[in-house]
Amino acid sequence: MTPGSPLTALRAPALAGIRRLNALDTVRARIAMAVDLGLLQPGERLPPTGEIARALDVGEMTARRALVALCEEGMLERRRGRTGGTLVAPRPAGGRVREIAAYQAAAGDVHRLIDQRLLLECGTAHLAASNAARHQIGELEALVARMDQASDWAEFHTWDERFHMTVAAATGLPSAAEQYGLVLRELYRHYLPCPLSHLRESNCEHAELVTALADRDPLKAAEVARGHVEALRRTMFVGLAEHGRDA
Ligand SMILES: [Zn+2]
Repeated sequence: MTPGSPLTALRAPALAGIRRLNALDTVRARIAMAVDLGLLQPGERLPPTGEIARALDVGEMTARRALVALCEEGMLERRRGRTGGTLVAPRPAGGRVREIAAYQAAAGDVHRLIDQRLLLECGTAHLAASNAARHQIGELEALVARMDQASDWAEFHTWDERFHMTVAAATGLPSAAEQYGLVLRELYRHYLPCPLSHLRESNCEHAELVTALADRDPLKAAEVARGHVEALRRTMFVGLAEHGRDA
């Protein structure tokens, strides 16, 4: 195999996975990919930087620097004034961010994480249906209402994480909840910005899950949890899934 052949390129360290990217570059890759895949539309305004930072689990300074870099690359643009902020460029430069390739190379990792989450999610939902305290069910209902009112994907994502961690806590098994949290956070490192309309649909599943917990129906709870996680393969990681099939 000669240097510079496609196979050499595929095995290059830069493509070895998202773990090799620093925080700044993973944020750039995730936003650029969401734009490339049409999950963020041309002209769409991005949430406030602080919210993006929280949703993508990086510092605010890192998020700000990533947005500046994406503006320089022609993916985003800054607009001043009342309707200003950071927006997706009207004709975003496509596929220019090299780190997207590294992100896509992590597709196998993402599928393994979804498998692990699927198993844990079904188990936690099943147990939470038996063990959830009244106040925990109330908390989950409040989180569903917050997600219904969330004004953008970043805010939704923050409540979504809290929702799932609350279900895990409701099992009454702290060490299992801890294990679940590790998988969830690792998976969230690959989270892509997503249209709010899609997220609202997924919130219907959250509401169904809370009803199953309140009804003390473990089978129903596990079934809803299963559908919720399996949907990630088709939606949250769209594109990554495509790549995974090719690999
Ligand atoms: Zn969810």
